Amino acid sequence: TYVVTDACIRCKYMDCVEVCPVDCFYEGDNMLVINPSECIDCGVCEPECPAEAILPDTESGLEQWLELNNTFAAQW
Ligand code: SF4
Repeated sequence: TYVVTDACIRCKYMDCVEVCPVDCFYEGDNMLVINPSECIDCGVCEPECPAEAILPDTESGLEQWLELNNTFAAQW
């Protein structure tokens, strides 16, 4: 899955939301999140983010962001 990180906070360009084929972005108060159980790992959103906030969860150190994406996405 892909994960939205802190570079998204108060940015919300929304370009990523438009390209996602499965509509798995959700909008929180301060940032967007990706629902990890809906993301199909296509990678289309990553280059669309001008803030470079979207990363694959295979990168190290993203555990807390993955958890946050999961928690917020589950609320909607
Ligand atoms: Fe959507 Fe693909 Fe990005 Fe996952 S990797 S959030 S499916 S655009």
